[in-house]
Amino acid sequence: MGKVTGFIEYQRLKEASEAPESRTKHYREFVITLNNDEAKQQGARCMDCGIPFCQTGCPINNIIPDWNDLVYRGNYAEALDTLHSTNNFPEFTGRVCPAPCEAACTLNINNDAVGIKSIEHFIIDKGWEEGWVKPQINPVKTGKTVAVVGSGPAGLAAAQQLARAGHAVTVFEKSDRIGGLLRYGIPDFKMEKSHIDRRITQMEAEGVTFKTSVLVGDGKLTAGVGSDAKETVSPETLKQEFDAVVLAVGSEHPRDLPVPGRELKGVYYAMEFLPLQNKRVAGDDVEVISAKGKHVVVIGGGDTGSDCVGTSNRHGAASVTQFELMPQPPEQENKTMTWPNWPLKMRTSSSHEEGANRDWSVTTKALVGANGQVTGLKAARVEWSNGKMEEVPGSEWEMKADIVLLAMGFVHPVAPVLEAFGVDRDPRGNALANTEENLGAAKAYATNVPKLFAAGDMRRGQSLVVWAIREGRQCAKAVDTFLMGSSSLPR
Ligand SMILES: Cc1cc2nc3c(=O)[nH]c(=O)nc-3n(C[C@H](O)[C@H](O)[C@H](O)COP(=O)(O)OP(=O)(O)OC[C@H]3O[C@@H](n4cnc5c(N)ncnc54)[C@H](O)[C@@H]3O)c2cc1C
Ligand code: SF4
Repeated sequence: MGKVTGFIEYQRLKEASEAPESRTKHYREFVITLNNDEAKQQGARCMDCGIPFCQTGCPINNIIPDWNDLVYRGNYAEALDTLHSTNNFPEFTGRVCPAPCEAACTLNINNDAVGIKSIEHFIIDKGWEEGWVKPQINPVKTGKTVAVVGSGPAGLAAAQQLARAGHAVTVFEKSDRIGGLLRYGIPDFKMEKSHIDRRITQMEAEGVTFKTSVLVGDGKLTAGVGSDAKETVSPETLKQEFDAVVLAVGSEHPRDLPVPGRELKGVYYAMEFLPLQNKRVAGDDVEVISAKGKHVVVIGGGDTGSDCVGTSNRHGAASVTQFELMPQPPEQENKTMTWPNWPLKMRTSSSHEEGANRDWSVTTKALVGANGQVTGLKAARVEWSNGKMEEVPGSEWEMKADIVLLAMGFVHPVAPVLEAFGVDRDPRGNALANTEENLGAAKAYATNVPKLFAAGDMRRGQSLVVWAIREGRQCAKAVDTFLMGSSSLPR
């Protein structure tokens, strides 16, 4: 434990950030990492409470009390080693993780939780700054080959672990750049893409080969799913050429809004809107779907919707409205009922702080337009009772909208890709594979197709970066065991 009385002496410190008025003029990150003194003080707030609920709350089981203590003592290099022992990419989670660890922190019961995410952010930024993050090259090669399809956090974590186990790993990606939703979903103002590029350089040095603009499958995709593929590789070719294949293709099939007027111009899926802006920031000569001077309505109240709000404000939208079908959650959770679990409560993202009219319990009944172009929408208020939704009679209204962005989540992975591989699906349409060996499947993360494994959003459904990293790591261990009979990779 760092400082015995730290949690009494010091308050939780929120990371500083650039003011909304100036940060919406650019696409760069605006959160300022803690300095050494601040990080030490925040580390000192950890009570080392004996049963680290935070560690269980964290999907990759980061060894949080240990690195809190190491940061308090100024032993940053060891803190980085401890952090890396469970997390391949703390610079991603230190920026975009919603931090379920903090909800589970014991101090959170009657005080403000330890600022775990801000300390993680500090440790890894310090590590890169000091040049401590180096390739970990395994000099012993196994002679085994593994293909990883999809380069999101699940695919990247699996590829890095497998390369460190000595296997020759090739990552196939249908986009023109590596990173999955880290690259083309999450905007640069939440996470700049140089963080991914640094890891690609590290992984190449560790022996990973990256192939972009390659679609694995039979060439078919679903409407609203992006691709920069210039080449298609069949599942048969992969299975013949590699000793094992990891599928980590995400959950890209977007939920649609089947209402009158859906076909109008100006109505887009969020993942048609967001990637173009990220490409523009990366220097590509692409035309973005511009919200400049427009009245934007975002349908869907989650992370994706919030990213649409932040991007629209940076474009210079005339107004941004965000609708959510579910009721407005309470401002504060009842901690005695929810701790250490993730509570349902009102969450205001940095994009919301920059300006948005948010409204809850709203259903969209129709999109209206003129000359084929959307001009507005018809909405109505709903009431929820026993999990059932009913429209409030007479509550309908019409409002102006020049752009409508559909951000209602993702239903399942792209079905034709799973069909091309012959992978069985669960009732939700995700790849069917267990995470444990003793649940019926021969091997953890194994699909019904011999030597074919599945991890990340494509197996568990739409989720979080930190869960994708967990699945990638655990899947790598399962693949290593399959190839070698046993594995010394950490879980
Ligand atoms: C807009 C948005 C914002 C988000 N913000 C956050 C956030 O702030 N914090 C958080 O924790 N989570 C966030 N998420 C969720 C998070 O990004 C995902 O849970 C995570 O990226 C899933 O990782 P993955 O590796 O399983 O899949 P993905 O990241 O989806 O990667 C899958 C990759 O596979 C590629 N691919 C698919 N099919 C093929 C094929 N047939 N051949 C070749 N390549 C293929 C895709 O192009 C993609 O690059 C967000 C999601 C979205 C959409
Ligand atoms: S990865 Fe997420 S849950 Fe885990 S310690 Fe970091 S912020 Fe917390």
